[in-house]
Amino acid sequence: GSAAPLLRTRTRSTCCYCGVGCGVLIDAERDAAGSRIVGVEGDPAHPANHGRLCTKGRTLAQTAHSTQGRLLAPELRAHRQQSRRRVDWAVALDTVADRLADIVHQHGPDAVAFYLSGQLLTEDYYVFNKLAKGLLGTNNIDTNSRLCMSSAVAAYKLAFGADGPPTCYEDLELAKTVLFAGSNMAYAHPVLLRRLEDARRDDPQVRWIVIDPRRTDTAAMADLHLAIQPGTDVALFNGMLHHLLWEDLIDPAFIAGHTSGFGELKSLLREYTPRMAAELCGIEVADLIQAAEWFGRSPATLSLYCMGLNQSVHGTDKNLALIHLHLATGQIGRPGTGPFSLTGQPNAMGGREVGGMATMLAAHRDIEVAEDRAQVERLWGLPAHTLSAKPGLPAVALFDALRSGKVKAVWIACTNPVHSMPDIGHVREALQRAELVIVQEAFGNTDTVPYADVLLPAATWGEKEGTVTNSERRISRVRAAVAAPGEAKPDWWIANEVARRLEARLAPPGAAPLFAFDSTAAIFDEHRRLTVGRDLDIGGLDYARLETDGPQQWPFPANAVQGQARRYTDGVFATADGRARFHPTPYRPVAEAISAHYPLRLLTGRLRDQWHGMSRTGRVPGLFAHSPRPGLRMHPQDAARRGLAEGELVRVTGKRGELVLALQLSDELASGTVFAAMHWSGQFLSSGGINELTQPAVDARSQQPELKHAAVRVEKAEFG
Ligand code: SF4
Repeated sequence: GSAAPLLRTRTRSTCCYCGVGCGVLIDAERDAAGSRIVGVEGDPAHPANHGRLCTKGRTLAQTAHSTQGRLLAPELRAHRQQSRRRVDWAVALDTVADRLADIVHQHGPDAVAFYLSGQLLTEDYYVFNKLAKGLLGTNNIDTNSRLCMSSAVAAYKLAFGADGPPTCYEDLELAKTVLFAGSNMAYAHPVLLRRLEDARRDDPQVRWIVIDPRRTDTAAMADLHLAIQPGTDVALFNGMLHHLLWEDLIDPAFIAGHTSGFGELKSLLREYTPRMAAELCGIEVADLIQAAEWFGRSPATLSLYCMGLNQSVHGTDKNLALIHLHLATGQIGRPGTGPFSLTGQPNAMGGREVGGMATMLAAHRDIEVAEDRAQVERLWGLPAHTLSAKPGLPAVALFDALRSGKVKAVWIACTNPVHSMPDIGHVREALQRAELVIVQEAFGNTDTVPYADVLLPAATWGEKEGTVTNSERRISRVRAAVAAPGEAKPDWWIANEVARRLEARLAPPGAAPLFAFDSTAAIFDEHRRLTVGRDLDIGGLDYARLETDGPQQWPFPANAVQGQARRYTDGVFATADGRARFHPTPYRPVAEAISAHYPLRLLTGRLRDQWHGMSRTGRVPGLFAHSPRPGLRMHPQDAARRGLAEGELVRVTGKRGELVLALQLSDELASGTVFAAMHWSGQFLSSGGINELTQPAVDARSQQPELKHAAVRVEKAEFG
């Protein structure tokens, strides 16, 4: 017979890659054989991108082959020696609930842990968080956002009393001095860089300062590039503030009226003369002074920063020292000013809003504050003192506890820790030793899938409903354009189904049901109610509002007409006394010093056209054109000294592991420093990737590991 006519649909949604949060229009076709995504365009109506997309966003349709490489049915195995067998959903869900309930009965709730992802939607996070904290009674729920933004969060809370950037994207167009610190926006946030480029084209007075040990594509576009020694950012910022103080370029009225703690910082700054700081950073003192002058004298200074500051054992200090520059000069709370932490992942921010981390509760509440716990108990209808007051295990400690046997079961959703965690040799051991590993995934090719005792097939981008929050606190809808293939299900649905079964096994008789959700709109509505009266109040926002008015920024309280673009515009901060706080930030070196054995500094970072472990971007041949092969970049002098030539295979060895890569000569790095991209994984290499070499040392306040720096040696790879 003749084929049924094609039905064409166009669905408004949000790009699933980075924290820019670009709006997209997804074109799909449906016929008797099913539905498929055939095109993706930028959404001209979305305020983040106004129709623009980067290479990753533009090729999204090519990643959405309906079944290829996808997990299509639940699988499980009873013992490690067995291979997994396909089962139906009812069996998979009952098994997960039974085994988790058994472990909780035998070892207590803290023997179970969840490891989630900034790729999950807010509604997914919400259900998982309620399941762990509200039902099981453990705070062991952390996410790969710990590897991404937790230092920025810690610093915002210490300095301003609340999480979340005070800035918005419009500030990119209004800033006259733009300082980029540890951020290669040309690769990591390309659409925002285009906005900055347009603004600079319109106003030649705009100046860009880029702080990065590498001459990245972003640094190459700067008016001033400070190629500091890795890890010396705090010394640089302290030195710049010393100069501003000395030259009277600070704002004494702002400091006196709106801050506290400046005196203490001032005495620390005495020793950070520009000369001393420049020497420590390995840059010209004149360049440090130039950066300070542009920062202090500009009518509007905006700082943009990312993993280069965050992924460090002193990430919180690096963030604070940069925030100090803004507070001391009053470069905050006005259009075009402020310290703007760029979110790495598409929904790291939304995950925190619902409290989906080991160290927080819903709506930016604090696990260790009794009143915060009591509020969540009331709002969830739980008996008093149900919530655990003990903070859960953050990412690195979580996998350590799994390795030591303290934690018995882990449920990993939408992330690939056997690629993205530091020191992945330890993560592999942890998963081998665990009693139960549940992996919830859309793609079958990740390095973590082989460890699964239970494999739960998840729906992915283009197939699921929910919301995400981007870098400027803007909540956008993510919508399903096609049906999920096979038996894949939305992440929230899977968590909700297991939660219902666990409720039947664990909750006291007569308890009100906690998991009556039948849609993501219902989940969002409950989340909304928990935020009322909080700093991120979205009491006035629901799916209907997002439908009619489009993406909105928080806070958006009841009766608001629109969200708040900027925060602290009245100079009142979210601390108890309303004043922003300075904290002493002494410079401290990287965790792993170079030595005679490991004489090179290994830096890690991103490629322009790839995303994370490439489970999605690795499906698009065209995205390999820019960087076709895994490689190690090295300064030509360092290569010559070792008798190494371009393209040759080299062995990179650190204290925790080794890796073989092709050598790429590059003068974007200083001698003594090498660079490798973080994307290449077990799909492409004989080992798990660059995190074979990175270290698990963490920042004491943010618990974020130092993924960006390790000491290594490099030699010719000999085989056989
Ligand atoms: Fe997607 Fe980020 Fe590119 Fe926008 S900038 S299209 S959100 S990857």
